[in-house]
Amino acid sequence: MIMKDSDELSPETLTAHGAYAGDAATGGVVPPIQPSSTFSRDENYNLTVENHGYARDKNPTFGHAESLLAKLEGGAEAITFSSGMAAAVAVFQALKPGDHVVAPKVMYWGLRHWLLEFSETWGIDVDLFDASEDGALQAAIRPGRTRLVWIETPCNPTWDLIDIAEAANIAHEAGALLAVDSTVATPVLTRPIALGADIVFHSATKYLNGHSDIVAGALVGARQDDLWARIRKNREHGGAILGTFESWLLLRGMRTLFLRVRQASDNALAVARHFDTHPKVARVLYPGLQSHPGHEIARRQMNGGFGGMLSMQIDGGESKALQAAGNCRLFVRATSLGGVESLIEHRATSEGPTSPIPRDLLRLSVGIEKPEDLIADIDQALAAI
Ligand code: PLP
Repeated sequence: MIMKDSDELSPETLTAHGAYAGDAATGGVVPPIQPSSTFSRDENYNLTVENHGYARDKNPTFGHAESLLAKLEGGAEAITFSSGMAAAVAVFQALKPGDHVVAPKVMYWGLRHWLLEFSETWGIDVDLFDASEDGALQAAIRPGRTRLVWIETPCNPTWDLIDIAEAANIAHEAGALLAVDSTVATPVLTRPIALGADIVFHSATKYLNGHSDIVAGALVGARQDDLWARIRKNREHGGAILGTFESWLLLRGMRTLFLRVRQASDNALAVARHFDTHPKVARVLYPGLQSHPGHEIARRQMNGGFGGMLSMQIDGGESKALQAAGNCRLFVRATSLGGVESLIEHRATSEGPTSPIPRDLLRLSVGIEKPEDLIADIDQALAAI
């Protein structure tokens, strides 16, 4: 008989069973939603159930999603947050004034923007490096002062790759920690902690949940060190916890994580290959294409697929790109990514007038539909421009 908590279970099996978080009280095969904000104590004033005192500190419903994610990432502990941004904020607020942070120039724009503003008020120094330049990360390090290297891979919206093992070596040699935004890769394709990362970040809004119906964030710590303790306190005291219903939806969504990510990866590869030579497409950016600058790293670092995200630069510039997006009938015009339905986005419009994103670029979050339908939709959208 299979032991329910066995570390020998494959991640696919563990995930399909939602880490066996059933309901002991009723035998329900899925866990109940526990909305209680507070938990009782016995006559001797001990907590009735150990560790459950007040829902801002710990809650059984978000605990289920956290323990599954910690196992999938191979970390010591996972903590969920009310959004990806709240999770990232908890990491940077765990730093001390005077600390130095290194991050890539191309990364989720909302975080880059916030980090640059926050660094001024919090008194931390941030250097942004060009991930496409050899030696740029090493050159950005300030020995003795760099406390955290933050990377995103594959990164928005060029899907360039950063070598996690190499970044970990550089960070550790300088006495710094490495945090990896692995939202796009997911633990299905890449396990950053096994490659040397200290913290894994997810916008759980995306693939982990997978159904575009919650906003959530998560961090996984390789070990429970001092920085991790401060991050955990930031969540406990800052209170950016994931609500119980959202936590339940997150665990429910994660049960199909492997199927969804693998199908989205297969679909994205089919779409990328089809449009790579299309006369109205100047360039397809997808790490699964041999022509992509990050292809070799992706082959080493991503197992079983290259993810569901790709970008296309449309011949004729911004107006043609906007027209193509406007002509789509199946792809939904919306920001975000990682849902079962395909989305198309003119990224420069979403990021606003200061966006560094090429104006001819369309970002595609490829879902789990039939790939022929997706290709036909873009084909007709391009034919009409
Ligand atoms: N990191 C990446 C790669 C993202 O795409 C996003 C959101 O788009 C975030 C972080 C921020 O996460 P959230 O929107 O859940 O706060």
